[in-house]
Amino acid sequence: MADKDIVRVRFAPSPTGALHIGGGHTALFNWLWARHTGGKFILRIEDTDLVRSTKEYEQTIMDGMTWLGLDWDEGPDKGGDYGPYRQSERLDLYRKYARQLMDEGKAYRDGEAVLFKVEPGQDVSFDDKVYGRVEVMSDALKERDSDKLKDIVIIKSDGMPTYNYAVVVDDHLMAISHVIRGEDHISNTPKQILLYRALGWDVPVFAHLPMILGKDKKKLSKRHGATSVYEYRDMGYMPDSVFNFLALLGWSPQSRGESGQAGDEIFTRDEAARLFELSRVTRKPAVLDPDKMNFINQEHLKRLDPMTRLAMVRPFWEEMGLPVRNHEDAWLAEALTLMAGRGRTAREMAEFSDYFVAFEPVKARWDGSDISEDRKPGLREFFAALFNVPEWTPDALEACARAWTEERGVKMKDYAMPLRFVLTGMKVSPGIFEVAVHLGRDEVKRRLEHYGLA
Ligand code: GLU
Repeated sequence: MADKDIVRVRFAPSPTGALHIGGGHTALFNWLWARHTGGKFILRIEDTDLVRSTKEYEQTIMDGMTWLGLDWDEGPDKGGDYGPYRQSERLDLYRKYARQLMDEGKAYRDGEAVLFKVEPGQDVSFDDKVYGRVEVMSDALKERDSDKLKDIVIIKSDGMPTYNYAVVVDDHLMAISHVIRGEDHISNTPKQILLYRALGWDVPVFAHLPMILGKDKKKLSKRHGATSVYEYRDMGYMPDSVFNFLALLGWSPQSRGESGQAGDEIFTRDEAARLFELSRVTRKPAVLDPDKMNFINQEHLKRLDPMTRLAMVRPFWEEMGLPVRNHEDAWLAEALTLMAGRGRTAREMAEFSDYFVAFEPVKARWDGSDISEDRKPGLREFFAALFNVPEWTPDALEACARAWTEERGVKMKDYAMPLRFVLTGMKVSPGIFEVAVHLGRDEVKRRLEHYGLA
């Protein structure tokens, strides 16, 4: 058995669906505690529901964890000293302990099933690390709508163990020190404590995580939009920010400085692991706020190094059918740097910057018809002056534009705005002279010519 002081935590998903937000949240808090303490993070697949469990879901869950950066130390794919790590491969163990309980008169057969006898008068209270003291007597474990105590099914008639029983056998044999899981399992904990005791095993520390609510304060469901981790990926959120966002559901790092508040909300995985404290997890239901997700993602996008940012945005440009390969990576990365934090997601950033990659989207957005024929000669003169600037830098172009418009007593914006439309097809963009310089003289000329302005 492992050293008592070594933290061993586990994430124990049932492979009956994708990795949803709640599962990702639970996995993440276990990971944080393992990494904070230098302990071990174990992945155990609870696939005793033979009908609904699939290998595909198992893989999706593992991929989702990997995407979030939650690496595990032991698991079905990795092995480890406490395997096997799939419940369907541990059936002999569940049978062995069921037999022990029956031999000791603590469990009995009812047809093909095995039931654990619940005795009245047992104090099954526990100190939850998050919820505090939970007082329960075994007498409360009743049949629904009846006064009769309900014995606990441990092996079902199909020979498979029940969740409450298998989880106890596994958590004990895998030397789990802390059981960190969703609050929906608080009501299962007293039953599990009875089983630990009957088997003569120590009870682990329990820490139940707060419920996650939608913005309407209702329990999170499909109605609230994205509920699986992959939906966030597909919307262009970065794993770092989804990680950051999930970590803030029910936890926040202690402020690092007197003035450090908002800034403390943005952190990397390593920082979070360093700062994480189980004692700072709150039981208050956590609200999933899409605006906050956007804010966090935008902050992470800003902090990325240019090449990583490009790697985030590129798939969305490709999805939009843009000829990304026509450009050098460094040039594309620089274009995104010019975007200076515009766009809350990689998808938005790709959409807001499409004109760098190609002229087609500009033409599709703007046909130039709002520039009347009588304005064109003046605009052509202005653009000609810009092309005469010997050294094409944003500063030199701006100085030229300023001088040219001042000389004629006209407004700079009446000339800069058409240029913005010609180059981007949008009303809002980074500094238009920066965009022009980055696109280069030839491309700017091509776009102006298309609209009859050069
Ligand atoms: N398979 C259970 C679930 O997905 C695990 C609960 C637990 O962590 O004990 O809810």
